[in-house]
Amino acid sequence: MDRSRFIYSALALLLCLGGTYAVRAHLADDWSDRALLTSRSSPALRYNLVPILCFHNVDGKGPYSVSQAKFREYLQQIRDAGIRVIPLQTLHKAARENRLLTEPSLVITIDDDYKNIVRVAAPILREFRYPASFFFYTADILNDPRWGTSWEDLRRLHAEGFDIQNHSYSHTIFHVRLPGESRREYDQRLHREIYTSREILQREVPDANLYAFAYPMGYFSDHLRDRLIEAGYELLLTTDSRPVDLTARFNGTFDRYTIQKRFVRNPEAMFHRQLQYALRPYDPDARDVAAD
Ligand SMILES: [Zn+2]
Repeated sequence: MDRSRFIYSALALLLCLGGTYAVRAHLADDWSDRALLTSRSSPALRYNLVPILCFHNVDGKGPYSVSQAKFREYLQQIRDAGIRVIPLQTLHKAARENRLLTEPSLVITIDDDYKNIVRVAAPILREFRYPASFFFYTADILNDPRWGTSWEDLRRLHAEGFDIQNHSYSHTIFHVRLPGESRREYDQRLHREIYTSREILQREVPDANLYAFAYPMGYFSDHLRDRLIEAGYELLLTTDSRPVDLTARFNGTFDRYTIQKRFVRNPEAMFHRQLQYALRPYDPDARDVAAD
């Protein structure tokens, strides 16, 4: 090999190694999960089932709350199982493109305005370097911060790289008209839940990319869905328990599994079932997954 060819080959090798390192460093930053760098999965396998977990407060009080210790334990179990935590937006993109994932993955979301999700849950998520999407309803922060969450908290979460999304204005039932409510009154109410809430969030967290809406208490209707799509929301989230199936045609809605401790017989088993969904490689002959 002559000298110039040798130099060229050495440069090419360096560039190649550098490129690989850069890509890995970039992914590690983006997805914040060492599982990416120490994958135990075969490169030939693909994964189509992706659970979205929905947490609430982490003070251990109430049917949808887990203790701080349990929250940490769940996050550790996800890591120990070799499952990576990906941003909601990454899953949204994969679903739109009908693209399967190369590693077992899941998404973490946290609903409502509890102060301890900002003060307790977010620091633990950061410790694990897990991304998460937080769904807030605005009236509570605006008028009556009974749970103690402030706009400054939201701005800080956003600055730390967490995803801030909309969970309505009042967190009440608005998928149907109330008894005695006129069409006009209902339209005005819907406008506040869908548009005003987003305007307020956008004003208070100007850089947030508000693309998703989580139905309060999981209640939805065809009418509400149509109004949300009309308003420009690209992703709607229920609490209907099924994992996202990336082989299915994306219809703009993802279901989520709500972490709970009272309304299911065995909360631990239900949590493990979500991990099993994530770990199950794509099988073209598998039956559809039913809601739990
Ligand atoms: Zn909620």
